[in-house]
Amino acid sequence: MTTFTELGLSAPLLKALATENYETPTPIQQQSITPLLEGRDLVGIAQTGTGKTAAFALPILQRLDQDRRETPRRSCRALILSPTRELAGQIAENIRIYGRHMKLTSAVVYGGVSINNQMRALANGVDILVATPGRLLDLIGQKAFRIDCVEIFVLDEADQMLDMGFIHTIRKLVAMMSVKRQTILFSATMPQEIAELSKKFLRDPVHVAVTPVATTAERVEQKIIFVDTARKPELLLRLLKDDPSINKALVFSRTKHGADKVVKRLVASGITAAAIHGNKSQNARERALFDFKSGHCRLLVATDIAARGIDIDAVSHVINYDLPNIPESYVHRIGRTARAGADGIAISFCDREERAFLLDIERTTRQKIPVMESPLGAVPEVLPALPHDERRSQPNRNGKPGGQRHSAGRPPQKKPNGPKGSGPRRDERSASEPRSERPQGQRPGAGAPKSANANSKGRPTAWFKR
Ligand code: AMP
Repeated sequence: MTTFTELGLSAPLLKALATENYETPTPIQQQSITPLLEGRDLVGIAQTGTGKTAAFALPILQRLDQDRRETPRRSCRALILSPTRELAGQIAENIRIYGRHMKLTSAVVYGGVSINNQMRALANGVDILVATPGRLLDLIGQKAFRIDCVEIFVLDEADQMLDMGFIHTIRKLVAMMSVKRQTILFSATMPQEIAELSKKFLRDPVHVAVTPVATTAERVEQKIIFVDTARKPELLLRLLKDDPSINKALVFSRTKHGADKVVKRLVASGITAAAIHGNKSQNARERALFDFKSGHCRLLVATDIAARGIDIDAVSHVINYDLPNIPESYVHRIGRTARAGADGIAISFCDREERAFLLDIERTTRQKIPVMESPLGAVPEVLPALPHDERRSQPNRNGKPGGQRHSAGRPPQKKPNGPKGSGPRRDERSASEPRSERPQGQRPGAGAPKSANANSKGRPTAWFKR
């Protein structure tokens, strides 16, 4: 399998990806990164959840970094248009994370918040701007920004732009850009109108596509249980005690260390379990697999990579002890139960940090996973004590113990709590912004999605700049 190094990415990016625990490029990244580094135009058919943001963000960062120039005043070198402020915020956050070892500047602008701060932030120009179309057009209309010297232009979620009525605005914006630019268009589907636009906007593009994420197996009964990170072990034990039908369960952990920890805890509580992951010898893996298959072991705790390719029949349950950060992994994981026409059950634990992953999964699979009441009740059960060295902070979203996902020097930013705090007042919005630039409704109690569009007091921040 191709690695990020083989795709030609530079050292500062490789370093950032290693910190993020990105081990292998996703299929869309495998196909897109090299042609984009070569400066080719590209049309990509890919949904959110396939890793498409990194597929375009990494080459942009590298190309700008390797051809350093002064940032033009009130302008940018790379422009990324996104249909919603949530997506814009996520893209901008990813750019900041991937570019943390580069000295490039970035900003995000969208409607629904004061335009004045954005004008000030853009006065000296930025290397990369992520914007929603309506607000960008407003800024240009007020002479606070120009896009005639944009070198790289990305139109993300083009079909959603079409659905949201942005196409006219986009045509206007593209007409303002120089034809001497690299253009990248991503869309989940390719309706006629988008196909025509891409013919007009792009020159000799490379076409890449990833098969849509498989729909989740119909016969799998899916459940989600919200739980505090610290109570996950207790929850697992309780489920196993209460439900003897969980007799052959595949448990997924995001990290190897996490998998070992779960097994230790289960074994200490008298439950037969074995771990299978990359740090185990071939012998140990084979033994674990044999014990599980033959029924000597009630649970097999695995990481995604270790579980890939192993064939186990009649798994009664898949338990996502940690939710995966790639929605496709969720689909693959739960497909391991209910094989060959059998019914199966997939139970996923979801802590605060993982709520953004849950949203990604639900968006990608286009379904809401029913919430199951936690069997823990109000009284916590007493668990066998952990050895001292295991009482460390819980792994974060990237599977690293403790720490934050944000680059150095910037505090983690929170999303405003609930719909009340997250919606702009009507009078804060400019007339030309379509309604759809408002934040999308959040599922009650869904916590903070991964976008970072608010300051620590929960107020929306219009932009950031490194
Ligand atoms: P996207 O489709 O860009 O929204 O990405 C979906 C999720 O996958 C995001 O949470 C990314 O951080 C994560 N991701 C993207 N590429 C990789 C990779 N190569 N390895 C692991 N995670 C990734």
